[in-house]
Amino acid sequence: MIEVVIDARCNGCGDCVDACPSDVLEAGPGGKAVIARQADCQTCLLCELYCPADALFVWPDCEAPVGITAQQALASGQLGAFRRDSGWGEHAASFTNQHWRMGSIFERARLQAMEIAAARNSTEPLQAEENVR
Ligand code: SF4
Ligand code: SF4
Repeated sequence: MIEVVIDARCNGCGDCVDACPSDVLEAGPGGKAVIARQADCQTCLLCELYCPADALFVWPDCEAPVGITAQQALASGQLGAFRRDSGWGEHAASFTNQHWRMGSIFERARLQAMEIAAARNSTEPLQAEENVR
């Protein structure tokens, strides 16, 4: 869940406000991002990905905020890590984006779902027959 915006880092670009699919963030004074609807956060990390100033901190707990302060976020050394490790923006040359690897995982999931559906379909007529008896 989004925990904190580091006000001193935010340049007011508004990219995180535009990127957030849950309308959690709003532009405050000077365009600086403010967390307006924290409970709506789905922990997708898109705001971290799009922030060019590494000013946002999202914690992996998607159920409830844990209350991380700006000082704690700065001390963590994790600000901007997701953007960097995803090979996003200025990191594209040095950190190769590996998201394409998800393709094989989705393919395995699709084949498994097809097998489960086929197995279910093969037993359904028998069950229907038993119900008639
Ligand atoms: S983690 Fe996702 S849902 Fe939460 S504030 Fe960032 S962009 Fe919005
Ligand atoms: S993307 Fe980053 S710098 Fe831009 S408004 Fe949001 S927090 Fe501020």
